[in-house]
Amino acid sequence: MRPIKLTISILMILGVVGIVLMSNFLSKGEAEESLNNNEESSNEMERSAYPNVDIITEITEEKTHNMAIHYPEFTEPTLNEEITEYVTASEKEFLSEVSRNKEILMDLPASLHILFDIHQFAEDTYSIVFNEERFVSGANGLQSSRVFLANTNNDEFLQQAEILIDNEQNRNEIYQLLLNEFEQSAEYNLYFFKDQLEEWIEDENNAFSNMFLTDESAVFKFDKYVVTAGAAGSPEISIPLEKMRDLITDEWKKRMGLEDDQVPASPEQPTLSDGSDPDDSPEGTAPLSAKQVALTFDDGPHPTNTIEILQLLDTYDAKATFFMLGNRVEFYPELTKKIAEKGHELGNHTWSHKSLPALGREEIVKEIETTNEAIRKATGERPTAFRPPYGALNDQVRDAIDMDPTLWTIDTLDWKSHDPHQVLSIVEENVTDGSVILMHDIHESTVAAVELILKSLDEEGYEFVTVSELNTK
Ligand code: ZN
Repeated sequence: MRPIKLTISILMILGVVGIVLMSNFLSKGEAEESLNNNEESSNEMERSAYPNVDIITEITEEKTHNMAIHYPEFTEPTLNEEITEYVTASEKEFLSEVSRNKEILMDLPASLHILFDIHQFAEDTYSIVFNEERFVSGANGLQSSRVFLANTNNDEFLQQAEILIDNEQNRNEIYQLLLNEFEQSAEYNLYFFKDQLEEWIEDENNAFSNMFLTDESAVFKFDKYVVTAGAAGSPEISIPLEKMRDLITDEWKKRMGLEDDQVPASPEQPTLSDGSDPDDSPEGTAPLSAKQVALTFDDGPHPTNTIEILQLLDTYDAKATFFMLGNRVEFYPELTKKIAEKGHELGNHTWSHKSLPALGREEIVKEIETTNEAIRKATGERPTAFRPPYGALNDQVRDAIDMDPTLWTIDTLDWKSHDPHQVLSIVEENVTDGSVILMHDIHESTVAAVELILKSLDEEGYEFVTVSELNTK
């Protein structure tokens, strides 16, 4: 029965082919899945450039005053108490000064800036150096600083006296080192008072609380008038660690890698690759007739909110613009890189969120350039957009900066309401083709607002583009 045999053979062949095809298909599926898994795992990035430390940013803008406050937040809450106490006390004092001067502040708002620098000088050990600038019109600006040395391993603050061997001989040595630096400093020598430095070193209450450490130096920060005339401001004197070696306890010499036969150790710095793809620019393939909006996110990046917003944007194939603060980019370089890799536009929102018209030209340029550099270091790209804090601009600012400022057409007030539905209704009531929508990715409630906005505007046929794409439409 040949025909039947043939049929069976054909069926068998078909069956084998089917199984081969099927298993091929399955293994392809698995391969794709494992590819995705790989992508997932490569997405696991280092959260912060400073292990166990985040940066908190609080921005307030009122008619009478504005505040930009930045402080570190440690993973372990015990370290945060003292920091929060310091920040809250400064804020409270400022706000009561503002309320005493309310009438005169309508023309020129008061401002409070609390910024910090962070230096890792041994494993799990950081210098946190706060700088506070307070300005209430009618009074001189007030500037002060505060140093914290934090150990994230045992969650304790260190005293400088635990690091320095405090005895008469060493005090003399510190005095000599500082004296040399002051006398040789072109910036300070005219304003320096030797007697006052002597008084400072001989004061038995002096516990060197104004000293902090970096991986290279011991730095002494003096408040205004302590050892110099007012014109010198608040001097900062750096002494290389090699010169300080004999003054440091054995334990800390070891921890800081300063033992005699060692080169000063540089604690592991975050490695920043600049391997992002410069050709990965967003494509503007929308038909000319499509309605477009630009979603913009200021004051970030933020280690959890920004990630969630990036995922939401992906879901809608949306591109946005992130106006980032340099001091936060420094904390989150890998996150910044991810924003670039996903094809969003990189924006400069200054280093520390000061109102630029209040600054001198040099300081304006520094706020912009340090931020451009931080973004470039993290992503390999220079930001293509710029937005001034508070939208505050004047001719001097325009003249000092070679980037065109981008403002907004819809202010969602997300930072104030923390109400996703209110944010959505502000957008829905005001949106038109070409709108630029202002939001802030440092607020958790904004993530939910973004989800609502994407859904709503997508249904209305809007396309989400970067501010540069909007401009070149
Ligand atoms: Zn801002």
